[in-house]
Amino acid sequence: ALITVLFALGEMATATQSLDEETFQLLGEELGFRIEIVSPEDEERELLEQFDIDLDAELEGEDDEDRLPRPPVVTVMGHVDHGKTRLLDTIRDAHVQAGEAGGITQHIGAYQVVVDHTNDEGEIEQRPITFIDTPGHEAFTAMRARGADVTDIAILVVAADDGVMPQTIEALNHAQAANVPIVVAVNKIDKEDANPEKVRQQLTEYNLVAEEYGGDTMFVNVSARENLHIDDLLEAVLLTADAALDLRTNPDKDARGIAIEANLDRGRGPVATVLVQQGTLHVGDAIVCGSGHGRVRAMLDEHGVAVEEAGPSRPVQVLGLTTVPGAGDSFLVAADERQARQIAQKREAAKRAASLSRVRKRISLEDITQHMADGKVETLNLILKGDAAGSVEALEEALLGIEIDDQVQLRIIDRGVGAITMNNINLAVASNAIIIGFNVRAEGLNADYADKEGVEIKYYSVIYRAIEEVEAALQGMLKPEY
Ligand code: GDP
Repeated sequence: ALITVLFALGEMATATQSLDEETFQLLGEELGFRIEIVSPEDEERELLEQFDIDLDAELEGEDDEDRLPRPPVVTVMGHVDHGKTRLLDTIRDAHVQAGEAGGITQHIGAYQVVVDHTNDEGEIEQRPITFIDTPGHEAFTAMRARGADVTDIAILVVAADDGVMPQTIEALNHAQAANVPIVVAVNKIDKEDANPEKVRQQLTEYNLVAEEYGGDTMFVNVSARENLHIDDLLEAVLLTADAALDLRTNPDKDARGIAIEANLDRGRGPVATVLVQQGTLHVGDAIVCGSGHGRVRAMLDEHGVAVEEAGPSRPVQVLGLTTVPGAGDSFLVAADERQARQIAQKREAAKRAASLSRVRKRISLEDITQHMADGKVETLNLILKGDAAGSVEALEEALLGIEIDDQVQLRIIDRGVGAITMNNINLAVASNAIIIGFNVRAEGLNADYADKEGVEIKYYSVIYRAIEEVEAALQGMLKPEY
């Protein structure tokens, strides 16, 4: 019967096809119901309102002078073996916070270093920078797919002897798709065959133009192994943050943030590394993290030293949760333990309900026309996967050759050879993109995952079919001219 009604509404549907929001609304009207579709964010907001917690408080009422600068949070990305891990180690070792030496550095998932920064008045300020200790864009994109944006700035590591490689491009695509500013670390300049200028030239093709070439991306030549120019790199991170971002928040309120790593410790129970994003977390606070809860029994920093409080951008290990949260789960402080437990229970219930009746909300090629007309989307993001480098290139070229109005944009945010991976799907979720498989497919678990996340994958085996369909969607989505 459903299908019949849909046909009457002028929508072609098959029994397995997921429906977009609009169709649901129409269907509801037809059947005499009012259907309300709530996003996960709205749901969370409503849930917390029942407990008098206002998620938007900071955005609205906050006085400007209450918002203080917070340190940037940095993720290191780049091709395998270009030196990401080594760079993270060198930065950590060279900048152990004074006074805390003696504590043995622990890998807790993130760490903070303090940099001497010369400000505009020529005074030296001590400024912290937070590093996410898991190199690579996979973790970055997986967290983003879950709605957790932790990274402010990406350091793109490119080995000067090797130059730009496939994962360099993938990493920069992921950072650009997230609108995260990039600082390029041209690494391994100690090597005889290092060619740092070539790296600069290669990256201009991807809209990363070095300042010395008239662009606005900072490139710094470094050697992670020989500890060369690491301070310049950290300075570049601060300058980029100051120029591109307004990183300020009110430290004087209940903490909120994201769990970035967690495990079950035999002796200590669930241990979660959290990154505080706003407010200040204190020992003794009642918290909800994902669908777990608890009271902060103790907090440890990256040196294994106990701390009483953690302000914005500070990563700490938290002891005292009742369950192990997932990476990317958000946490917040509740009034007391009882309330924390209630919120956790409601979250758990909401999660169960959502997985039972999942309304797919991602975009499909068919409904993009309507979204565009409504002014909801101005960009069609595509991810291209194909069976050979040549065919992917040909497809990309043809797609970019489609003539479109300048009110809309077609962005190819990632491309590559081979089957459609979990990583591609996560990027599609995070960027609301459509994946195009040219003679390649998503196999097994990945296909299920795409389906579960509501990501549309279009399969083609002839280029002109792909072009035809994308063109139709793009032309349909042009806004009427006035
Ligand atoms: P990742 O895969 O990007 O994390 O790369 P690693 O940090 O594991 O580094 C890969 C290899 O490159 C290791 O053998 C490092 O010792 C080496 N390496 C990293 N940085 C440098 C550098 O600045 N100079 C030289 N010569 N070797 C480096």
